[in-house]
Amino acid sequence: MKVAVFSTKPYDRQFFITANYDHEHELVFLEPRLSRETALLAKGFSAVCVFVNDQLDAHVLEILAAHGTRLIALRCAGFNNVDLKATAKLGMTIVRVPAYSPHAVAEHTIGLILTLNRKIHRAYNRVREGNFSLDGLLGFDLHDRTIGIVGTGKIGQIVAQIMQGFGCRILAYDVHPNPACEAVGARYVELAKLLTDADVITLHCPLTPDTHHLINQNAIAQMKKGVMLVNTSRGALIDTKAVIQGLKSQKLGSLALDVYEQESDLFFEDLSNQIIQDDLFERLLTFPNVLITAHQAFFTKEALQNIAETTLSNISEYQQGKECVNQVNLEQAIAPK
Ligand code: NAD
Repeated sequence: MKVAVFSTKPYDRQFFITANYDHEHELVFLEPRLSRETALLAKGFSAVCVFVNDQLDAHVLEILAAHGTRLIALRCAGFNNVDLKATAKLGMTIVRVPAYSPHAVAEHTIGLILTLNRKIHRAYNRVREGNFSLDGLLGFDLHDRTIGIVGTGKIGQIVAQIMQGFGCRILAYDVHPNPACEAVGARYVELAKLLTDADVITLHCPLTPDTHHLINQNAIAQMKKGVMLVNTSRGALIDTKAVIQGLKSQKLGSLALDVYEQESDLFFEDLSNQIIQDDLFERLLTFPNVLITAHQAFFTKEALQNIAETTLSNISEYQQGKECVNQVNLEQAIAPK
């Protein structure tokens, strides 16, 4: 099948070319992000392959459909960037990679918690400059602390398992509780209770209309003073302005992000020679107790291999007219599970 692969990076090319030996699709790698301005690049391609920050609103989808695209192959789990109603209207099929390595994201989450708590990022810079002072590097024992996990699907469950190993109390909140989490000692509570009791709150639910700005001024007001907040799920789960206020008032003790609401203008590119125009993002960077990575939680060899293999299998199944288990439908957007 002829596939336009948008937002291609060298690592995507490497893993997709290797995985394609078994599929023999005609892959054309395009560096630009899919948007209204670039949609015409897909003219004549029956499939497009896209990532988290490609834009698939109704307008873009109409352009794609008008020029022959029938299949949208997401090479990620989340599909919050796709207007599913528009795809249904246009008769397009959407496939995704529901699980490529929940371990990758869970392990990165733990890495952020440990780094932020023990200030390893600051210690690294200090020691390299011959500054061996410990002032400002004080952390806390995770043992006996309460971890609140919002969203206990594949990733949240692994975070629960790992944090249980640290000797933490685990509070969980999910619209569909997961027995595997209870089996490792997690206790399901209402969101309000989790927000009130947790020392560390980590977000692992999808971005939906229900979870948009789940962490807002009101949620922050309910949290313990000094709480650590971690988001490796989707940027818009957090109201950035409210979080900045929370950091300024010191209600939030620290913040780790792998995702950011306006990340599509920033992440995955080298902007080190440019003037960043996003003042909220720049404000976040000024806090010593904020740690940001640029949507890299998924970025392991295993995950990239699984992403490429599953995406190409999804495309092959579509081409062969087979039912694809990884097809996204409109109902999932309303009640994701
Ligand atoms: P999953 O579908 O296995 O789990 C999501 C869980 O969230 C489910 O248990 C679901 O019931 C729950 N949920 C849905 N709505 C909720 C709500 N309103 N309140 C509380 N819980 C709710 O998904 P997963 O594989 O664990 O991934 C979780 C999220 O992580 C994805 O949606 C994606 O946005 C994000 N993600 C980020 C990266 C990264 O690199 N940073 C990589 C992969 C996935």
